[in-house]
Amino acid sequence: MHGSLPIYSGGLGALAGDFLKQASDDALPLVGVGLLYRQGYFRQRVDAHGLQHEYWVDTDPDRLPAALVSGADGAPLTVAVPIGGERVSAQIWRVNVGRVPLYLLDSDRPENTRAARWITSRLYVGTAELRLAQYLLLGVGGVRALAAMGVEVSRLHLNEGHAAFAALELARAQLAGGASLEQALEEVRPRLAFTTHTPVEAGNDSYPIEQVATVAGGLAAEAGIGIDALAQLGRSHPDETAELFGITQFALRTSSRANAVSRRHGAVARAMWQDLWPELALERVPIGYVTNGVHVPSWLGLPMHEMLDRYLPDGWLAVAGQAAVWDAVERIPDAELWAARNAQRARLVEAVRDRSVAERLGRGDALDYSRAAASGFDPGVLTVGFARRLATYKRLRLLVSDRDAARDLLRGEHPIQIVLAGKAHPRDDDAKHMLEELFELKVLPEVGERVVFLDDYDLASAALLVQGCDLWVNLPRPPLEASGTSGMKSAINGGLQLSVLDGWWAEAHQDGNGWALSGDVDTDVEAQDARDGAELQRLLREQVVPLFYDRGADALPHGWLEMTRASLRSLAAQFSAQRMLSDYRERIYGA
Ligand SMILES: *Cc1c(COP(=O)(O)O)cnc(C)c1O
Repeated sequence: MHGSLPIYSGGLGALAGDFLKQASDDALPLVGVGLLYRQGYFRQRVDAHGLQHEYWVDTDPDRLPAALVSGADGAPLTVAVPIGGERVSAQIWRVNVGRVPLYLLDSDRPENTRAARWITSRLYVGTAELRLAQYLLLGVGGVRALAAMGVEVSRLHLNEGHAAFAALELARAQLAGGASLEQALEEVRPRLAFTTHTPVEAGNDSYPIEQVATVAGGLAAEAGIGIDALAQLGRSHPDETAELFGITQFALRTSSRANAVSRRHGAVARAMWQDLWPELALERVPIGYVTNGVHVPSWLGLPMHEMLDRYLPDGWLAVAGQAAVWDAVERIPDAELWAARNAQRARLVEAVRDRSVAERLGRGDALDYSRAAASGFDPGVLTVGFARRLATYKRLRLLVSDRDAARDLLRGEHPIQIVLAGKAHPRDDDAKHMLEELFELKVLPEVGERVVFLDDYDLASAALLVQGCDLWVNLPRPPLEASGTSGMKSAINGGLQLSVLDGWWAEAHQDGNGWALSGDVDTDVEAQDARDGAELQRLLREQVVPLFYDRGADALPHGWLEMTRASLRSLAAQFSAQRMLSDYRERIYGA
């Protein structure tokens, strides 16, 4: 949502922030619930060899735009959740996201044990028990917090399985009234909607049932649910006792609506989870889709914003999700569009020059190399961005699979310059190794001058990059990209896409609005990577670079700007958070 609240890791957190901001803009009756991670996700520092170092910074809650919710007695309102034999107490911070309140649970309370206080410390790290404890606090504690504050909820929207145990808390009341578990779930399901955000295994975590029993046993007992019954809800095949407890399966079995986050991801998710509905044909598996979108005012750079203000209808930003609003893009003269793009690129180049010197000196690099990008980066050069979590499936390696071709692109008469950023999960050794391999190339002079890796990818650097880059590259291994949203942020800023036909781009790409690499699935991943790496180089060399540098007598790249207009017209409304929220209202939240 904002740099002052470092409680996100990547795309899902950024999406959640955009979601709340758009709900505020559209005056929707919605509240957000999350955890106040005192140390958030790790901060990244990469050393001279490309080795990632992680560190954590304590957030001082007194300096946050957040206030503790207090009870009638003026003391902080708390809720308690049985977790692993303890009653863990949590206080509630309120953040006003415009009109929309966001409530963040925080277990750092003096009455808790040190271990319990740690539960809301860090995001996406720690043991399985700690992760489950976070899930219980968010799901069960979240429902209890809303009740304690008198917030009446018609529907709960669970994003990923993290909050799925909310179903247990909702079922508790029914079970106390004597209902059977199945009857209770019949009552609960219509109140729950579930969105799956990734097909990647690490995002669909599962646990031995003994582990779930250790952490959630107290709660299940309180709700009156046996561990065996709980285990069955978390398995794809309920009676296969060797199967782990999957949080996604549990969420799918306890929600009445479920969706993926792009059209293609919908098909992928139906195939992935069809075993839960053995009686249904694949196309009948009840998982739909709502494609993600981005909050336009948050990601739009000022020069583009001011230029659009001159040509789009008055008040356009409030209806940026309507395609017709963007028709006026056709009337923007090339010179003005190019001036706005140049201004945004110049801002990025200025920042890259400055930061690269400081970061390289900080890594202990020699002075010459440290200064290389400060003189090498040029505001007139085609600027390519590749910034995202350094998960292996995002295939950063493809950029350099053909080293000689890549070097030619950097040093030709019509060169490109590349800005890279991204964090590897602390335990993802392959992703970390990928970064080290990349750093081996820094000894080449053209790499030192025209390729920069910026440390500590976050919301602020994401904004800088998506606003300034001319070309945004996304190379996921299909079909593992559920949606991707950074390309949408780039598109609204007049950046062009070169991307695998996976996630959002599979439904967004059309002739003349960007470039596409095959989205076909191939089990021979090495052959696939070789093919895609070569095709990437070919597209850059034969299409992207010539189009960017093909200038008219007025020095303007008319062909490039025509494509930019086509991109803005076909993508901006469709991949806005306003369109996304309107889809959720129609397809998921509706009666
Ligand atoms: C938008 C965003 C992402 C998501 O990018 P992908 O396209 O999914 O790779 C990740 N991190 C940050 C900081 C973002 O702003």
